[in-house]
Amino acid sequence: MRELPAISASFTFSQSSLQDYSDCPRRFWLRYGERLQWPAVESEPTLENERRQQEGQHFHRLVQQHRLGLPAEKLARFASTANLSRWWENYLGDDFGITGYAQYAELSLSAPVAGHRLLAKYDLAAIQTGEKALIFDWKTYHKRPRDEWMAVRWQTRVYRLLLVMAGAHLNGGIPLAPEQVEMIYWYADFPTRPARFPYTVAQYQRDLEAVKQLVIEISTTRMDFPMTDETTRCAYCTYRSYCERGAAAGQGDNLEAELQEYDFDFEQVQEIAF
Ligand code: SF4
Repeated sequence: MRELPAISASFTFSQSSLQDYSDCPRRFWLRYGERLQWPAVESEPTLENERRQQEGQHFHRLVQQHRLGLPAEKLARFASTANLSRWWENYLGDDFGITGYAQYAELSLSAPVAGHRLLAKYDLAAIQTGEKALIFDWKTYHKRPRDEWMAVRWQTRVYRLLLVMAGAHLNGGIPLAPEQVEMIYWYADFPTRPARFPYTVAQYQRDLEAVKQLVIEISTTRMDFPMTDETTRCAYCTYRSYCERGAAAGQGDNLEAELQEYDFDFEQVQEIAF
């Protein structure tokens, strides 16, 4: 077995890379170690999924512009597809309960963990100084995931963790206590059923330790990033033909495809974060 080069000390971890490693160590290595661009063989469900992902990105840009102060009437004409139009109407129909909160759209926060940087980019953080900090993440999934399932995603854990670790400047210079932080997934197709995840000191300590351990594990592994045994995870993976786990995309209505969100543009993010 060949020895792999070390992950560079300048490598920035994120919820996406931690999730990739947890789902499949090989996917992590191919994506971040080898930086392998491998076109997945397209098929109808994948094309539909890609279209929806593009609409999802467009929706995020619309909401960001709106949060930055552009009038809804001016933005409405860009909600030009059936999905976008429906999501936009649902979004405008919700006040999110944050009147009077300071609002930070597309906020980036980072902190050192086990010799690396850990970074998160938030769709929206709404903060009432000294009281409450709400993290909003807009999701355009075609199915509403189960809350138990979202609770253990690295995004849910990393976003709350980093706001406590690195959000003092948003809270009058005082670090936020875990109990003041809550993560909310707002589902554009299910606007009355957001998923809410409050935070506790015990969860914060558990998450900090878990991220540290995982970063150490990933950054000290040299010999192998094994392929996952759970082949259902391969069905929509970009690398499935490379790994000989099936050339065609999985068939059917699979939420797994939508959950494979790509990481941020790191070159762009690093300009913001450092
Ligand atoms: S195809 Fe399967 S084994 Fe290969 S990287 Fe993707 S998830 Fe891992």
